[in-house]
Amino acid sequence: MKSINTVNACDYDQMTLYKSGEFNSKYKTDLKGKLKRKNKQILPDSVAETFLNSYYETCETLEDIILYRVFGKYIGKNTGKEYGAEILGAYATTEFAESMIDVKIRLALLPEWRNTKMYEVKFCLPKGSVINIGIAAPQPPDKKTFAGGAEQIILPKVSRKEMDKWVIGYRRIGARQLTKIPTYPFNSVDEVVESINLYSVFCPECQCSDIHKVENDEREEYTFVGSKGGIYTMQYKCLNSKCGYMW
Ligand SMILES: [Zn+2]
Repeated sequence: MKSINTVNACDYDQMTLYKSGEFNSKYKTDLKGKLKRKNKQILPDSVAETFLNSYYETCETLEDIILYRVFGKYIGKNTGKEYGAEILGAYATTEFAESMIDVKIRLALLPEWRNTKMYEVKFCLPKGSVINIGIAAPQPPDKKTFAGGAEQIILPKVSRKEMDKWVIGYRRIGARQLTKIPTYPFNSVDEVVESINLYSVFCPECQCSDIHKVENDEREEYTFVGSKGGIYTMQYKCLNSKCGYMW
């Protein structure tokens, strides 16, 4: 059996879980010295309460700042209606999503908000923008199932056209925790997907969705020995010729 080190495949022996917010904290946007306090804007209670202790500050940005927003909508199977979070929305944060589960915890995204968390947009908020900033409060307020803790930013209201000018790129958010800084390979993504296509498989390395699913009779060919001796059968292979990753 081949060693995992000789092929382009996921070494499951090296995968260790980390605490939500542990990895992205090293790369998050540092706002120190980049904000100027302004007179506090009064936000509706429903918005103010999404900040920890309902505490937030209104600030003007003194420089361009990099922000992230997690979003995604789907069409309900029975209702035909769209649910979820749009590309363009009020909420953003200073840290990228580590995985779908981690971002749900860090931003305290309640299931009833129906954000599919399929995508993340990385964008540059221009200097001179007025934002409201605080820490994402735990949700729901009584049970605190989702801890929150990320920096939460309420963006100024802008048009989609304006927002598009800010966009650096889009990416898929995976179920697996990131172990390296994410790339944003897409110029656009389908904000709304049919519920059958929700969370379609994509390559964790290059994010392409041209994927081969390993069949039963191919299992042997796709079974490797991990770096610590574990034996793993890969489930997928990326068909992008420049990638070819197996996992
Ligand atoms: Zn790939």
